[in-house]
Amino acid sequence: MKNDVQVAIIGFGPAGAVAAGLLGQAGITTLAIDKTVEIYPKPRAIALDHEIMRLFDNMGVANSILPHTAPFTASEHHGAEGQLIRRIDMVPPPYPMGYVPSMVFSQPPVEAILRDHATRFPCVEVALGTELEHLEQDDDGVTLHLRSPNGEPRQLRAGHVIGCDGASSLVRQQLGIALDDLVFDEPWLVIDVLLTPGTTANLPKTSAQFCNPARPTTFLIGPGLHRRWEIMLLPGEDRFAMEEPAEVWRLLSPWLTPADGTLWRASSYRFHALVAHEWRSGRVFLAGDAAHQQPPFIGQGMCQGLRDVSNLAWKLIATLNGTADPALLDSYGQERGAHVRELTGRIKVIGQVICERDPQAARARDARILAEGGGTPRTITRQEIVPKLSCGLLSQQNDQPARGSLFPQPRVDSDQGTDLLDRVYGTGFRLILSPAIDHAENLAAKAREQGVTPLMIGPGHIDEADGVVATWFAAQACSAALVRPDHYVFGTARNAAGAQALLAELCRIKGAQPAAG
Ligand SMILES: Cc1cc2nc3c(=O)[nH]c(=O)nc-3n(C[C@H](O)[C@H](O)[C@H](O)COP(=O)(O)OP(=O)(O)OC[C@H]3O[C@@H](n4cnc5c(N)ncnc54)[C@H](O)[C@@H]3O)c2cc1C
Repeated sequence: MKNDVQVAIIGFGPAGAVAAGLLGQAGITTLAIDKTVEIYPKPRAIALDHEIMRLFDNMGVANSILPHTAPFTASEHHGAEGQLIRRIDMVPPPYPMGYVPSMVFSQPPVEAILRDHATRFPCVEVALGTELEHLEQDDDGVTLHLRSPNGEPRQLRAGHVIGCDGASSLVRQQLGIALDDLVFDEPWLVIDVLLTPGTTANLPKTSAQFCNPARPTTFLIGPGLHRRWEIMLLPGEDRFAMEEPAEVWRLLSPWLTPADGTLWRASSYRFHALVAHEWRSGRVFLAGDAAHQQPPFIGQGMCQGLRDVSNLAWKLIATLNGTADPALLDSYGQERGAHVRELTGRIKVIGQVICERDPQAARARDARILAEGGGTPRTITRQEIVPKLSCGLLSQQNDQPARGSLFPQPRVDSDQGTDLLDRVYGTGFRLILSPAIDHAENLAAKAREQGVTPLMIGPGHIDEADGVVATWFAAQACSAALVRPDHYVFGTARNAAGAQALLAELCRIKGAQPAAG
């Protein structure tokens, strides 16, 4: 049976829309469906980071999205007595990816931009109001049984399917994939307020975690007039009663009154830590909330999902275009599964600190955290909490600390003045060289032969504005980095011979099995 499209995407939320845009950009025939027509109008995810903004920029939508973002203010953690115990902030300038490293954003307009981007490609069909009811796969493709907006059944064949259908994913259920419970399950009330312009409300000047055992609470400064409180629900509290405006204003009364703002959303939400046991079954993949859910304590929920589709899209494109062996697709779940588990584990530890309800244990926690800072509140960065890739399509040479990390993006000279590296030189596999490398010409020629773009960054070559790459090469004690299309470092080398070995290794494993973890 002939396939109607190369890829079908179930769910057109942020993960599905980015997947459709990336596949559309590469000319892959794609169908994206969503059972709802309208974008969910309330804010849900509120934070994104520089890795995701780089992805948006590579898609050509960063300039439209940036007005809906603002820098993520440092989160001050206050202990049981209200004392400052630590801060979680972003890394200082010069910014490693070229953007503010941590941002807050407004989900509805950003989703609208992502949807609009995907629908621009003639090879992408978007079917809204269309629900997946059932799927079955065979050796050649997947048959989708859909219900159209007018209630008519529609049947369609796709070469591959990506289930981006959210937390209660039907795709995941139909594949019989279980969610591994990383053991975190706390009921919280998420409250979004739009401040009255000019309000003199008694609000913290920066974001905060009030680790008060009587009522753990998060405060976030969103973009513009948007402020969010996440308030832990206590045993015996009825979630629906707590969503009532009178209750919500009572909870917010230490900070503001109804005259100071309008309630945008107040909904109870369970903070889970769940990860799909498998990320792929044959021709069908899971991505986004369908594959994982995590507590929102450092704002990584949507970022995780967009990392998934960024990782999967370039591998699917390479496989469908015949430039990589289909076995490369196995590295998707291997890489993303390990990354999500590691990051969720770290978020869970932060969550356990925040959610401590026992006053004595909370005092001991405060003392321990302060002691970790040598007696004063220390600052950790959101960027150091996000791990590297630990397995998958990575060099197997062991002495490379940068392997699996994100390669930085410098601002470089261009014909139009200073601009970001990717905008001037594009993406794909790149061999980034320091001017210190030996046999540069020969190495660059070898890279090109393999479809890898050589870029020498340094004085007299590609001039960078802030020394971000020079500092990186010095810190990693290397002079070459082989970088993947999603900007993760495949491997590093000290000299031309090492770099040639990396190119040969990439060629070998891209065409065959991914590296072991
Ligand atoms: C109620 C709620 C509150 C949240 N609050 C927060 C928060 O406070 N902070 C935070 O960081 N994150 C929050 N999140 C999570 C955040 O919104 C997600 O991480 C992000 O939206 C995930 O994107 P996604 O594309 O993977 O899934 P989603 O945004 O959930 O999109 C999935 C899409 O699939 C569609 N779909 C589902 N089943 C089918 C089907 N059978 N056929 C066709 N289409 C289908 C749905 O209509 C939906 O549009 C919240 C999520 C929810 C649901």
